[in-house]
Amino acid sequence: MIDRQDGANDPLLAPLNEQQRAVVCAPQGLARLVLAGPGSGKTRTLVHRVAQLMRTGVPAERILLVTFTNKAAREMMARCEQLCGSSAWSLMGGTFHGLAAKILRQYGSALGLDPEFRILDRADTEDQLRAAVNDLGLDLRRDGLPRVRTLCRMFSASVQRELDLGATIDLRWPQYHHHLGLIQTIGARFVERKQEAGVLDFDDLLVGWSLLADPPASAEPAVHQTSQALRERFVEVLVDEYQDTNAIQGRIADHMASIGNGLTVVGDDCQGIYGFRGADAQNLVGFQQRFDAAERLLLTANYRSTPEILSLANLSIAHNRTQLEKMLEPERTSLGLPPWVVQCKDREEEARFVVTRARELQASGIPWSEIAVLYRSHALSTEVQVELAKQSIPFVVRSGVRFFEQAHVKDVLAFGRATMGDEFALRRVLLLYPGVGPVSVRGALERASVDDRFGQMAKTASGISRRGLEQAADVLAGMIERSADGPSAQLAFLVDHYRQAFVQRFDDSNQRSEDLEELIRFAQGFETMNQLFADLPVVDQTTRNGDSGPALVLSSIHQSKGLEWKRVFVLSLVEGHLPHAASFAEVDGVDEERRLFYVAITRAADELYLTYAQRAGHGRVQTPSRFLSELMVDTEPPFTMVRPSFS
Ligand code: ATP
Ligand code: MG
Repeated sequence: MIDRQDGANDPLLAPLNEQQRAVVCAPQGLARLVLAGPGSGKTRTLVHRVAQLMRTGVPAERILLVTFTNKAAREMMARCEQLCGSSAWSLMGGTFHGLAAKILRQYGSALGLDPEFRILDRADTEDQLRAAVNDLGLDLRRDGLPRVRTLCRMFSASVQRELDLGATIDLRWPQYHHHLGLIQTIGARFVERKQEAGVLDFDDLLVGWSLLADPPASAEPAVHQTSQALRERFVEVLVDEYQDTNAIQGRIADHMASIGNGLTVVGDDCQGIYGFRGADAQNLVGFQQRFDAAERLLLTANYRSTPEILSLANLSIAHNRTQLEKMLEPERTSLGLPPWVVQCKDREEEARFVVTRARELQASGIPWSEIAVLYRSHALSTEVQVELAKQSIPFVVRSGVRFFEQAHVKDVLAFGRATMGDEFALRRVLLLYPGVGPVSVRGALERASVDDRFGQMAKTASGISRRGLEQAADVLAGMIERSADGPSAQLAFLVDHYRQAFVQRFDDSNQRSEDLEELIRFAQGFETMNQLFADLPVVDQTTRNGDSGPALVLSSIHQSKGLEWKRVFVLSLVEGHLPHAASFAEVDGVDEERRLFYVAITRAADELYLTYAQRAGHGRVQTPSRFLSELMVDTEPPFTMVRPSFS
């Protein structure tokens, strides 16, 4: 064991302070909670603890590191590699969903799962649910039932909060209380359908893992044995951003460590911003009650932000009703820059200010990638995107539609899935062709299943629809012929056809073409179509744009968690946007929005700009956010108000 004090020349301990070293060198086999504010090195400490465990002889594959995004997992593993060498790549690192998929592929046979199971993305999940509704002869609108998307949310909320469906509906959707029986019937059919098709949705991944981590007493002996083997495998479980775990994730983490393995969780209750998705503050607040011997360690130095930014953050979060006691002192010295509140006339001026200022910052030597523009909802970024495009500034968007959920990407992937016998996908493909409607698709699908896979499809149709079906059949057959060349070659063949036939119809066809090229490149990492589809949904946690060239970052605040930039702009600090109007009626709603504001401002290292427009479209007056006005009472405000200087 390395002495905590003696780390001066040790690459693993030297870049850490005393409190961080205490976490890194803490003994194995215990539960501990590291509770600390933003920028205090929680993530850094977690990575160094992983490296330290490896250095003391724990094999990488026996360490389970849970991160908030796949991107964070990759970065953390890359850092471990720097510290410990390439063995770090056998670490089990990823998001709860990504890890659940890996674990279920390895250990799921005890639950009757085929290791090749396919994961449904959100849209596929909705398709399955829609099909379940059809199987039962129901008509959602006619029968006064919730829409498919709402039904999905209900089932999902019940899983994530570990509440039965009735209680979930009474809590969040009381207006559907009288339909509980029917909704349960739909749920049962939905589950059956997924089982018949051998597919899992995102919630099933967590349920599957929880069955292995914490099997019910009534489970088969094989499940208990597998559970034991799985839990014995991991010497220590480490969880970043623990405050945003929901009930089922919390239970999984607890039970993965229930046989005397170590459990190190790091988090900050003030940064809990996923309550609306079922994150359960109790996981963190009740940690020490659940693990009596658990140590609580604090990190109290903030390395990220200037004292001015930190002071604004601390004053703001003090307005929340509940929070755990934490100290956060600036480690950095002042740069003499106050946080700016920029009052603009309208949204256009706000966008013009942000982009002009960003350009000045870049001209003064700040790289584009060190400048971020954050906002509460994706739609607020439109004006800034337009202005950036006008001024030819490179930018990436880390909010909005995910890469794999874009229509053109989904179309192309549907061809791939169709070649593997997926009927939903085949339907999507066929409907793309002009003249092909639901009736000809039904005829074609009957043919496709009885005769050779695609050759006979067109036989039932005539005229323009026949031409469409023939084209589809030719392309699908062409793809199958190329199976031996791998998925990238198959997709390249397809994209050629797709681009000619469909892409020109979109007004942003260049962007879409580039996306498809990107998809072909992505597919190079896989040997078969099957492999590609197996892990696709969990790979897509962040949009692909993130990794290319230096570019200014546009991001929702939710997506900015855990990240930092030298200069940060936060847009649209007006009532209704931040705090968001939907939060006003929710219990803890405005407090959660204030935590969101806290997350946003603590992303900034050197300089922070909070902007708002006095008027929205059609001259509607907007009220500045209470998160600003509440700081102006009594004391000197912790920011300086300005108007854009060019107007
Ligand atoms: P968040 O709550 O936002 O996720 P965090 O607590 O995880 O923040 P990190 O991202 O780990 O904080 O660290 C914040 C910044 O401080 C990073 O740039 C990190 O490299 C730096 N840092 C952390 N600890 C130290 C240290 N002991 N010495 C110097 N820099 C440090
Ligand atoms: Mg962090």
